[in-house]
Amino acid sequence: MKYQELHIQTQREFPNNARTQGFGWLVRAGYLTRENEILPLGKQMIERLQNLSADPSFLFHLSLPLLTNEHETFFPISTGSTEIIHCESCKYTERKELAQFKKTPFSHEAILPIEKVETPECHTIESLTGFLNIPKEKTAKALMYTRISHNQFIFVVVRGDMTLSEAKLKDKVGDVRLATAEEINKAGAAAGYASPIGLKNALIVVDDLIPQSSNLVAGANEAGYHLLNTNYGRDYAAEIIADLVEAKAGDLCQHCGNPLSIVPTVSLATRREFHFENILLALAETHRDDKGFTFPKSAAPFDVYLMHIAGKELNTRVKAEEIYDALQAAGIFVLLDDRDERAGVKFNDADLIGCPVRVTVGEKNLKDGMVELKLRKADKNILIPHVDIVSKIMEIK
Ligand SMILES: [Zn+2]
Repeated sequence: MKYQELHIQTQREFPNNARTQGFGWLVRAGYLTRENEILPLGKQMIERLQNLSADPSFLFHLSLPLLTNEHETFFPISTGSTEIIHCESCKYTERKELAQFKKTPFSHEAILPIEKVETPECHTIESLTGFLNIPKEKTAKALMYTRISHNQFIFVVVRGDMTLSEAKLKDKVGDVRLATAEEINKAGAAAGYASPIGLKNALIVVDDLIPQSSNLVAGANEAGYHLLNTNYGRDYAAEIIADLVEAKAGDLCQHCGNPLSIVPTVSLATRREFHFENILLALAETHRDDKGFTFPKSAAPFDVYLMHIAGKELNTRVKAEEIYDALQAAGIFVLLDDRDERAGVKFNDADLIGCPVRVTVGEKNLKDGMVELKLRKADKNILIPHVDIVSKIMEIK
């Protein structure tokens, strides 16, 4: 394709709203607008990536730092909105809301008799633990939902120091919404002071750590009161016991015991689909130097950046057009810079856009039957006979 057909506009300045370096360079090189709209050059690159994706393993050949599991492939980036849990040691990788980790019971104690105590104004775990001077691990946290498919009240219990993962809950019971005050009252619970003990018509769902935790403080289902020493099995039972909580940084990997970390990412692919705009960003973040992009051959929008430098005696433009036709006929993707710009401007734009090879048709070399060939990542250029250009470029891997 030709430079002017694609309406490429490179920018001298880095956009001041650049969220990441890669995004800023994509705007500078004319792939995206500052508003993150894809320009024709960006579309061309995405089209090439789409063709590559006929081979589902293509992402692994783009020299990207990927984090992956059997369902999804992620690219770590500080601005990414998809948080994943990752184990540096065994490479366990999972979306935060679905990640598993090694849970440890707080302590094993002899089971004590249940005891109702007054706990005024203690309707959060924080106020309760402060008032009773106990760690959060010694409390049972209640969360109340309605199961949409069955219009059924669900009472969820997780340990007070843990956070419920709604994704994990939905995985077990289907879609849910928060229970209304009326539904909570009807089941016999009291918001802020709720426990599963003595409820009517409730589906009780507990995190698998609850049956292993003894003497937890839970609500008394009466405003202003809690129960000390509630115990799963003795005081209540659940229809569903499952892993229901979110992993956090520092939790231990259930496969190898290493501390887990949280990594912000963007998703590049699931089993069913690729996210090409994210792949474009990942390539931009990964492959560049201080002049512009250094895309790998397979992922660049074009294989070759072809340009002429206007001559005084010879018509270098006509020769460039001839080479363009010959390369295209050989199935090589070429971007012909057909502008009448100074050589320096074209060199800069070639570096910015980042095609793996630059071919320059200039008068002095052309008189000797030669054109200049420069690999984007090389410091020096070489001269080759213009009649050999197709075969030479086919050789470049
Ligand atoms: Zn691990």
